[in-house]
Amino acid sequence: MAYQVSARKWRPQKFSELVGQEHIVQTLTNAIELDRVSHAYLFSGTRGVGKTTTARIFAKALNCEKGPATEPCDACVFCDEIREGRSVDVQEIDGASNTGVSEVRDIIDNVNYAASACAYKVYIIDEVHMLSRSAFNALLKTLEEPPPKVVFIFATTEQRKIPETILSRCQSFEFKPLSQKQIVEQLRVICDQEKIQIDSRSLGEVAKIGAGSMRDAQSLLDQVIAYCGAEVSHGAVESVLGVVGHSALETFVQHLIDKDAGALLALVANAAENGKDLNFFCRDLIEYFRDLLFAAVAKNPETILDGQIRDVEKLKQQAGQFHVDQLHQMFRVLSVAEMEMKRSSLPQAVFEMAAIRLTDARPFRQIDELIRKVGEMQPGPAQATQAIPSDDSKKKPETPRPASVAAEAPVAETARSQESPWEQIRMQVCEKKPPFQHYLSHCRVRAFEGDSLHLEFDDSFTLDLVKDEDKQSIIRETAEAVCGRPIKLKLSLRPNGSAEAKTQETGKTSAAEKAPTASGIEPSASGAPSKKQMSKTESEIIQNALDIFGGVVIR
Ligand SMILES: [Zn+2]
Repeated sequence: MAYQVSARKWRPQKFSELVGQEHIVQTLTNAIELDRVSHAYLFSGTRGVGKTTTARIFAKALNCEKGPATEPCDACVFCDEIREGRSVDVQEIDGASNTGVSEVRDIIDNVNYAASACAYKVYIIDEVHMLSRSAFNALLKTLEEPPPKVVFIFATTEQRKIPETILSRCQSFEFKPLSQKQIVEQLRVICDQEKIQIDSRSLGEVAKIGAGSMRDAQSLLDQVIAYCGAEVSHGAVESVLGVVGHSALETFVQHLIDKDAGALLALVANAAENGKDLNFFCRDLIEYFRDLLFAAVAKNPETILDGQIRDVEKLKQQAGQFHVDQLHQMFRVLSVAEMEMKRSSLPQAVFEMAAIRLTDARPFRQIDELIRKVGEMQPGPAQATQAIPSDDSKKKPETPRPASVAAEAPVAETARSQESPWEQIRMQVCEKKPPFQHYLSHCRVRAFEGDSLHLEFDDSFTLDLVKDEDKQSIIRETAEAVCGRPIKLKLSLRPNGSAEAKTQETGKTSAAEKAPTASGIEPSASGAPSKKQMSKTESEIIQNALDIFGGVVIR
């Protein structure tokens, strides 16, 4: 193949070509401009983020025929020599292979002679943390009394291994990992120059695995091009990089929506059999869930989601099938799994367990609601029910008193009929805005008479979401269209809102009617719950705690 992309070929030769690290470039060029060049610099940061490249450009800027200049010409004899590593005045030393004191002595003996041709003598010591202690000590003398026109540039991936005495004599710069966007842009420049056809999603995958390192991303791109040639298909990229495709992520989430654990496990097993990296799979899922969350909470997800990488419509549709709490929980389950997979000798098993756990994610309940519910589970029902409403009225003044609404049960009963106006409204609203499928599964019709539609929500979280003016107007306008008259919409939190509402058919029985035993636990003849009732109580408490704190039972 004629084209050979490589980190070397595309190494930036001028400050203006450097990607990222603008703050460092700014400080270095200011130093040149103000003639305040320090005698020692320390460049630290992860590999492949431009430390040595910046050091070389800086050496050229100091020594350029037209300099010291804030930007080297990259054409004069000095720039040429430095770029090609031939300059006697700019030396690059690999700290990893020259760790001893004798190598450092060679440098130090040399330091006191003036530069032969260049303005500055520059010593670039890469992987400087590998130097031995005695080598550092020898170096320290020179740093304490530096000869004029000598600049040391130390580069390291492990700043914490540098002795404090050295650190304190250097101007220190921390190089940041490059963003995915910065890497993609640079890869795009390279591919355009090399006439490689590749889509943005593929470049995104390459950049992602590069994890902030331009050099790693460029070598991965080399691999992909070596495999595919000048026309790179997305499927080929996925197989070279060992990542699962976008469609696999969509399918994974669809299985979650269907609560089909078997299909999920089959999908994971299939990915492993096809040589996919399950760590990447898990990481990609984390990102996918982040995007689902964005789609669920943002008014215009199109503005924050990358349409070239994601099918935003599909995301919105899938996000609508979950409660925001569930998405949060799933995100967290996967984040924990990703960390555990790295430590485990059985990463696939960890991933599979996480997949099963995902099918179990449920919306959180408010902690005050849980405390109230735990209170309701205490033996004396009279005591519990007395304490609850007063507590409730203090915290949620908007909670309507049950007595103030008439004839709730019969109306709610009719709402269950397929042909009822409410059912029509509900279906039409959900058709217009799929997330309402979820919101409205957490509410019931408290009253629907004349021009008033009163909806009661199980939890304040969903209530707060639907209280949004835009969402309210969707319900109101749909109701007005169905009923053919103006409708006043009222939203409130269900009094004594209990978890039971979720398991019972909505609207069947009002909380007021059930008030004495709101939790559904009948006191036994003695007034204390039976053993069976008690065990149910305990497991419910535990489950609620798990839901709130997102934990799992270990034993
Ligand atoms: Zn030059």
